[in-house]
Amino acid sequence: MNRDHPFIAQCDKALADIRAAGRYRRFVALEKLADRFPYYKVTMEGRTQDILVWSSNDYLAMGTDPEVIEASIEAARTMGAGAGGTRNIAGSSPIHVALEAELAALHGKDAALLFTSGYVSNQATLTAILNSMPGWHVFSDAQNHNSMIVGIKGGKAATVHVFAHNDLADLEARLAAAPADAPKMIAFESVYSMDGDIAPIGAICDLADKYNAITYLDEVHAVGMYGPHGAGVSERDGVAHRLTIIEGTLAKAYGCHGGYIAGDASVIDYIRSVAAGFIFTTALPPPTVAAALASIRRLKVDQARRDTLFERANLLKSKFDQAGLPRLPTESHIVPLMIGNATRATEVSMRLIREFGMYATPINYPTVPAGTERLRFTPGPKHTEAMMDQLVAALRHILSGETGTVAA
Ligand code: PMP
Repeated sequence: MNRDHPFIAQCDKALADIRAAGRYRRFVALEKLADRFPYYKVTMEGRTQDILVWSSNDYLAMGTDPEVIEASIEAARTMGAGAGGTRNIAGSSPIHVALEAELAALHGKDAALLFTSGYVSNQATLTAILNSMPGWHVFSDAQNHNSMIVGIKGGKAATVHVFAHNDLADLEARLAAAPADAPKMIAFESVYSMDGDIAPIGAICDLADKYNAITYLDEVHAVGMYGPHGAGVSERDGVAHRLTIIEGTLAKAYGCHGGYIAGDASVIDYIRSVAAGFIFTTALPPPTVAAALASIRRLKVDQARRDTLFERANLLKSKFDQAGLPRLPTESHIVPLMIGNATRATEVSMRLIREFGMYATPINYPTVPAGTERLRFTPGPKHTEAMMDQLVAALRHILSGETGTVAA
């Protein structure tokens, strides 16, 4: 390979810049201990230790649930490790179809469609919608996930309006200013994962009705956890039937892997027929599909697990408040602790591991705006009060004497 190519020098320069800004991403290799979740085994700097993890998106610990693991093992035994083809070419099994039926029923929609990740479901679906006919105007929340932004950018002739985050007045002003007869779509999320705040879904649906827009809601950080059957904030708020498309993941509260959309039969059939990210990739592996099916069926009836999640999240929030730790006030299960600087956020995270055997992910720019860097805590049903007390003591120790640099 030719190392003289200018691209190699460009890589090195860009990496040096990222390092200088304190944004260089170091992966901590965490080996999940399935029987002791949320403990993981970590080897770092020549030392192996068990680490208590506070940042998993396996919010309800379903990834280590015995029923879910069994379903996966059984499917691997009977159907093999991989799907062996795209959905069109030998990769559609009865359990793919059953999972889609389960997801459609969960959200009260006609149909659902699986994708290989939540990322791909957003990217592929939004691009397909916006290329379906000319003249689209899309209204996208300023904090939408990268997968939605990339999907929207894929709409070759669409006009994009970014509205201020969760701001109904700004959204309405932009809807009103767009041509009355243009096809319109509002794309937004329910639970925003970095700030942990929640969209006013019903009020956005009111605006969609008033301006004849379709709606696209990402419920990735809500499915499994919100609503009486875990169908998300749209179920909790009784507005699922008003949304055109609900998108979700099987990789967070369901503890498995994969993404999906649910909606009107014609819309889902159209996306199935044209979306490149659906058509040209291998179907989800049967063990993953079987595990997700078991996880959804369990969570549909496991309100106790959801109650425990919110009880634990509220307990951690109140402990942070009592200790004077500057968290963002959130309505959701997500607890961000504001640090305000990338170098410091990374340093606090590393000290938590090295000195206290605990891990929380530093969230730095560009994932969040510069100056709002944070550690993100997602306590779940397996985090005990004693663990929380250890965490608070550790954070107080690390942050004491640094109060001048820790911004609320
Ligand atoms: N939407 C949002 C809001 C997300 O935060 C994420 C992933 N973090 C995704 C979509 C992508 O989901 P997945 O991890 O299943 O690809």
